[in-house]
Amino acid sequence: MKQTDTYKHRGLRKNLIEELRSKGIDDEAVLKAMMNVPRHFFFDSAFLNFAYSDKAFPIAAGQTISQPYTVAFQTRLLDLKPGMKVLEIGTGSGYQAAVLSQMGVKVFSVERQRVLFKTAQSILRDLNSTAKVFYGDGYKGLPSFAPFDRVLVTCGAPSVPEPLFAQLKKGGMMVVPVGEGESQEMRRIVKLGEDDYEETAHGVFKFVPMLPDKESAG
Ligand code: SAH
Repeated sequence: MKQTDTYKHRGLRKNLIEELRSKGIDDEAVLKAMMNVPRHFFFDSAFLNFAYSDKAFPIAAGQTISQPYTVAFQTRLLDLKPGMKVLEIGTGSGYQAAVLSQMGVKVFSVERQRVLFKTAQSILRDLNSTAKVFYGDGYKGLPSFAPFDRVLVTCGAPSVPEPLFAQLKKGGMMVVPVGEGESQEMRRIVKLGEDDYEETAHGVFKFVPMLPDKESAG
């Protein structure tokens, strides 16, 4: 069923934005983009009350929609400029992809679970989002659309995926949570040359793990 965005939803969203601001998110472009995306569209209507609290929430296939704070944090770290080409790994609900396209960038997002890919694609269509979603193994990136200005990984990677680094433009950057256990360290990698990069760490977060391609996983 198609959802609507009412005055009430916008009020709840405004409160969420203020909460993010109080937690230190001060990038107005990011806050505005998040104000423009009706997060409740990505939830089953039975869970409407959860859409505007600053929490991660389970979606289908044992996955989660990232916490709004995490979405804001990663988006800000990407330092986006309108018109950039951005590759997202882990479409999940599609919410982060919708926020990225509200930042004026061209979004290519990859998801390995078919049911999530399908649902996200249809919600993004309802929102008239320009984000393009793809079904496949995000570890491999999207070589036919490379190079990208930015790569955003929204699942926990055991290490920085080599193919994703290769698909970055020189001067481009990747934001990726790295770590195999319960939590990951948020890293930002700036590509200086084919084998040359600069890396900074930005705190600890919790993501669902990056898993191999379903087919090749057997
Ligand atoms: N960005 C999402 C959060 C997704 S949670 C949102 O805004 O809702 C992480 C997602 O990464 C899950 O949907 C999971 O299925 C997906 N994922 C895990 N490993 C992957 C891989 N190798 N390729 C693509 N997606 C992957």
